[in-house]
Amino acid sequence: MTHEIAVLGIFAADAAFRSARLPQRGETILGDSFALSPGGKGSNQAIAAARAGAKVAMLTRIGTDSFGDMALSTWAQAGVSFKGTQTPDHPTGAAFIHVDSATGDNAIIVAPGAAGQISPADIDDWSKTIRAAKIFMCQLEQPLDAACHALEIARSAGVTTILNPAPAASLPPDMLSFCDFVTPNETEAESLTGCPVTTVEEAEFAARELIRLGAGAAIITLGDRGALYSSGNSQVYVSALTAGPVVETTGAGDAFNGGLATALAEGRNISEALRFANATAAISVTRSGAASSMPDRYETDSLLA
Ligand code: ADP
Repeated sequence: MTHEIAVLGIFAADAAFRSARLPQRGETILGDSFALSPGGKGSNQAIAAARAGAKVAMLTRIGTDSFGDMALSTWAQAGVSFKGTQTPDHPTGAAFIHVDSATGDNAIIVAPGAAGQISPADIDDWSKTIRAAKIFMCQLEQPLDAACHALEIARSAGVTTILNPAPAASLPPDMLSFCDFVTPNETEAESLTGCPVTTVEEAEFAARELIRLGAGAAIITLGDRGALYSSGNSQVYVSALTAGPVVETTGAGDAFNGGLATALAEGRNISEALRFANATAAISVTRSGAASSMPDRYETDSLLA
């Protein structure tokens, strides 16, 4: 089967602890609750795209441990095909998420584990899947050299490339030139360009800067203010949609990117693709969790109807 979308990224088992406050150095405190759920930006984006109706291949490394089993069953349930590598050499990625019950503030450690070992040689092994796709998408939780190599291979095969530059990191000089779309949030756009991004006007300016740095086009997501697309010459702005009371915004960016990739794979124009991505993300924020908050296709279609 040919996959329309190939996603390079990581899976992490999110271990989320809630307590009355964050512990201090050297201190042990009792928590209020604990939850274990599937996460990792790449995996979340792949799941969002599959739920939106796309045929999706996930490229990553996982271990042969119980978190690896969790990854495989999560993808199987969502209809994502795993096309990466599973070996016993390293543990599957995991994230420690500490949430302060009183303020909602969090502190997070992500250990990519096996996915931290993804190398340019892996990308060569997986290149058939990348070249055969319509869309290639990645983020920055796995090693940068592998992401850069994959974007270059995809680009040279005529595959449309999307880089979600999260979490914020400084990029190799030529990396943006392999990207048809770069999709930072406000903080990531600020860190890539050095320009403040607090208003739609500032986002327009930062987007032009990202294009000057090599990107084909930029889409800056603006949280509850929606998203802005710029190709340099033309701009499209969508304001955020309300699909119900906001429960949790974790994974909103992942929902947006999964929806965007799906709409582009279907050949929709940029205005329609932005609307679809924006609606996918708007539904995700009305639910708790990340992977579990991704909407099914009919839900997004009915919000847009
Ligand atoms: P990230 O999760 O990567 O920080 P954003 O916070 O910018 O990304 O959110 C991504 C997208 O999710 C936004 O562009 C918007 O479409 C949607 N979104 C975020 N917050 C809300 C909200 N409160 N209501 C509706 N849509 C939202």
